[in-house]
Amino acid sequence: MTDADPTTDPRPGVRMVIMGRQGAGKGTQAVRVGETCAVPHISTGDMLRAAVKAGTELGLRAKAIMDAGDLVPDEVMIGIVGERLQQPDAQRGWILDGFPRTVGQAEALAAITAEAPVDVVVELVVPNEVVVERLSARRTCDSCGTIYTADDPEIADGVCPKCGGTPVQRDDDKPDAILHRLEVYERDTAPLLGHYGALGLLEQVDGLGSADDVFARLLAVVDARVGDPA
Ligand code: AMP
Repeated sequence: MTDADPTTDPRPGVRMVIMGRQGAGKGTQAVRVGETCAVPHISTGDMLRAAVKAGTELGLRAKAIMDAGDLVPDEVMIGIVGERLQQPDAQRGWILDGFPRTVGQAEALAAITAEAPVDVVVELVVPNEVVVERLSARRTCDSCGTIYTADDPEIADGVCPKCGGTPVQRDDDKPDAILHRLEVYERDTAPLLGHYGALGLLEQVDGLGSADDVFARLLAVVDARVGDPA
């Protein structure tokens, strides 16, 4: 999670939903924003992958759905996220990555967070052809989940330098599944942009350029919404 100390970190907490097509860089950026604001990065994809790995009932149920690039049913996801947001570390704020993905999930999130609602929804905007390229080259550590690109010299020996795990291509990052996931995004998730736009919560952030540049744009949005400590 985060090394930052919420009692000394000058940045205020934030309740952020980060959206964007698969491969837009949500995970990478959400980790950094979470560290800087000392709030947990809550990735429903990571939670489901952990459940698959642990062989829990949820994992067994989710695996085939995830491999096909389809969506796990709303009621399952709403239950998982509702529980996670009650944990002590989420009381100062959170970055939700991968949830909500449907209007039903967004409505449930609004109900769950009625007392402390979402501050901002960020869409990381990256064109389709760029995300297809990025996803095809993406390698994910099968142990700690760190994301690399296939040609990254750090993983030339096939070993994750962070934990000794193995960087692999996720089944859902293979070509057919990528195209299907992008279709599912357009059909089920893109309508949320209009939903959050109408609520005045949506900020669109250019997701192209270096990770540092994108991060700086994101922090500017956070500061504008929840206050810059500087
Ligand atoms: P991600 O890592 O966010 O791309 O998620 C990987 C897969 O997990 C997705 O393709 C879905 O099958 C499943 N998943 C993650 N989050 C959700 C969600 N909020 N609703 C439904 N399915 C989800």
